[in-house]
Amino acid sequence: MSGTPLDKIRNIGITAHIDAGKTTTTERILYYTGVSHKIGEVHDGNTTTDYMDQERERGITITSAAVTCEWKNHRINIIDTPGHIDFNIEVNRSLRVLDGAVFIIEGVAGVQPQSETNWRLADRYNVPRVIFINKLDRTGADFYRAFATLKEKLDIVALPLQLPIGIEDQFVGVIDLVEMKAIVWEGGELGAKFHDEAIPADLLEKAKEHRQILLDTALAVDDAGMEEYFDKGDVSVETLKRAIKTGTISGAFRPVLCGTAFKNKGVQPLLDAVLDYLPSPVDVPGIKVAAEEGEEEGDHQRRIKADPKAPFAGLAFKIINDKYGTLTFVRVYAGTLKSGDSVLNTTKGHKERIGRMFQMHADKRAEIKEVIAGDIAAFVGLKDTGTGDTLAAAEDPVILERMAFPVPVIDIS
Ligand code: GDP
Repeated sequence: MSGTPLDKIRNIGITAHIDAGKTTTTERILYYTGVSHKIGEVHDGNTTTDYMDQERERGITITSAAVTCEWKNHRINIIDTPGHIDFNIEVNRSLRVLDGAVFIIEGVAGVQPQSETNWRLADRYNVPRVIFINKLDRTGADFYRAFATLKEKLDIVALPLQLPIGIEDQFVGVIDLVEMKAIVWEGGELGAKFHDEAIPADLLEKAKEHRQILLDTALAVDDAGMEEYFDKGDVSVETLKRAIKTGTISGAFRPVLCGTAFKNKGVQPLLDAVLDYLPSPVDVPGIKVAAEEGEEEGDHQRRIKADPKAPFAGLAFKIINDKYGTLTFVRVYAGTLKSGDSVLNTTKGHKERIGRMFQMHADKRAEIKEVIAGDIAAFVGLKDTGTGDTLAAAEDPVILERMAFPVPVIDIS
């Protein structure tokens, strides 16, 4: 999918306390996006297993710095965000290059210490977030209790977009409060079908109550929806979705979804939420250019918007060595870069030539000939570019704000 319009790109991270289900959720996302992209519908249970086996053989690229997948005509780049406290600097770095994040918390324990740390880091970079309460199939899972920990521990306005239907081994699906319908999975294996149905009668009152909160909260941040609301006593799905997106991006509230990644329930609606509510590169303010000498850093610094026609500007955020050589992962903020082009490393002050360019998919690396503003690619051939270096067009370079990271606190006692 080269040539994906900018508004159809999502650069996201998935973050969680260790064991909350980041790996499982990422695997499922790659599975569902891979299946929908390559195979279409899965009719045969074996297709599923084969696909996963193949991935294992090739070494699942979810450990890669950034993996690209497609969902409903959008490209989602998933940037790896290390979950462990030791990688604090790496978490910082990845939070700089993504535009939105999925925060996974556990349905039994709720918000755990590492989720709190990562949450604060994401706050620092104003990363828009949706929250996924996972493991609702587990014994002891309680959506409402886990939900309450969001307010208690993170002090946020958490806004459910879904409610669970059943819990523990009776968890079958979710109520979608935006469209006021139930989404129910049959079976819990990969590729299991799901369908829409009416909201169960015993949950209807609760659903209406939460729908009202959703309307009041979301429309309050998007006045345009209010008019429609007063006219009809309700709003269209598009209006409500737009209002939720506005509030999600501004951080006015944090939408909450739920499910069980392991039992394959809830991941497809989560992917829909990534498209609906997390920003594209054109929805975000853009990266700051470096402060002039003697100038103090702050909000007054000029920002550059994602524009493929502007001079190239990018940031090397991760370097990995694998059997093919050194891969430099770059977030492109402005311009268009073609393989063979030369760029100026503005951190080191010298020119470098871009060799081949790739995007990493679950099961393959796809060579691309050009990469545009807003997207992410891995470059081969950069000899002297380090993590955190900024790159620019050789002529008239725009120098981006350097990636300065807080020094981690190392306890040597
Ligand atoms: P990570 O450390 O956040 O990447 O967590 P993993 O995805 O590796 O999951 C940790 C453990 O929890 C694994 O044994 C998973 O199989 C299990 N797990 C993940 N998601 C779920 C879920 O939805 N339900 C249940 N019961 N187990 C899950």
